[in-house]
Amino acid sequence: MRTIMYVRIVALLGLSLVFVAGTLALAQRMTVAQAPEPTVSETPAASAPIPQAPAPDLVVPPQPAPPPAPSLSAPPAVVAAPGAVTPPAAPSPVVTTTTPVEPAPVVTAPPAAQPAAPVVAAPTPLPPDKPPIEGAKAVAKIVFASKQLPSLGKAMAIGYYPRGCLSGGVALPVNGPTWQVMRVSRNRNWGHPNLVRFLERFAPAAAKATGWKGILVGDMAQPRGGPLPYGHTSHQIGLDVDIWFMPMPNHTLSAEEREKTSAINLVSDDWKSLNPKTWSPQQVAFIRTAAEQPEVERVLVNAAIKKEICRVAGKNGGTWLKKVRPWYWHHDHIHVRLKCPADSPNCRAQPEVPDGDGCNDKELAHWFSDKVLKPVKSTGGKPPKPITMADLPPACQTVLSAPARAKN
Ligand SMILES: [Zn+2]
Repeated sequence: MRTIMYVRIVALLGLSLVFVAGTLALAQRMTVAQAPEPTVSETPAASAPIPQAPAPDLVVPPQPAPPPAPSLSAPPAVVAAPGAVTPPAAPSPVVTTTTPVEPAPVVTAPPAAQPAAPVVAAPTPLPPDKPPIEGAKAVAKIVFASKQLPSLGKAMAIGYYPRGCLSGGVALPVNGPTWQVMRVSRNRNWGHPNLVRFLERFAPAAAKATGWKGILVGDMAQPRGGPLPYGHTSHQIGLDVDIWFMPMPNHTLSAEEREKTSAINLVSDDWKSLNPKTWSPQQVAFIRTAAEQPEVERVLVNAAIKKEICRVAGKNGGTWLKKVRPWYWHHDHIHVRLKCPADSPNCRAQPEVPDGDGCNDKELAHWFSDKVLKPVKSTGGKPPKPITMADLPPACQTVLSAPARAKN
């Protein structure tokens, strides 16, 4: 009997051991199965701009900005643009939330004439909401944003600052000795070679004039220029750049810092004067250095900043002072616009900056009027029609369908 009992106990123990081991193995397998994919979430979001990151141009000031009355304060390009009813600084905050356009399947765009052919009864009707992605009716901001690389070919600025594109664009390296590029994920550090050369020369000059370590470069243009899905109405032909009112820090910024850091706002809450907490005299040196460069056509700043610069410069402003133009927004960055390059016959120049230094009270008063600072909100109305390929110079279709050049 004892032996039998003994054998039974041993057998039971054995069985229990097997069961426990089995359970452990199963549990282990389940844990492995549930373990998260290691890489996915850590992959830096290379293509998607972080929507929450406040874009320098998108920080919404209380001025939805009606198109200014044609006045001596000489608004830049945008006003003169054909059909440009909208104010230049992308007034609608709605754009902020616009998901950065997911590039539609690469558009091998046929020549513009093709889509005009009479439609043969299509067996599968296209979903009605989607805008066309090729041909003359394609929404330009969508097709241009889908191009990750510049077009192969000679560098040329084509069209007008708020209505054109860029052939053979080159990239500004994201790090230089005296500059760093912000919002790298937007892929907007492209321009005509003149713009890249300008920045490479301006960055050390500005550093010297201000005592800053260097400058922070915001948006330039998309690889092939063209309208942008959010943030600007100009910046289309590779000759515009935003540069922050802020010294470059001592360290190389991380990818995240470049997305999330905001530029400093130099203007007071009522938009009538400067913010003494953020304004510094170095800003004058910074703006002046930009405006003194011969290839610079205009430097746009907020009116409160222009007013202060007029005060500091007095009567001896020289030619640089008239290039500094008051404009909506531009409280946290300057917008530098270059002249049309000699190699770009299809680049349309802006009207010359009017005579005078732009400092007289009458010119400036407009910018501080209720009309500008407290415009009556328009109720309803259709949103402006987006720019289509047909609205751009025909050469832009060629730029769009050209083969890509590898990164420089
Ligand atoms: Zn700008």
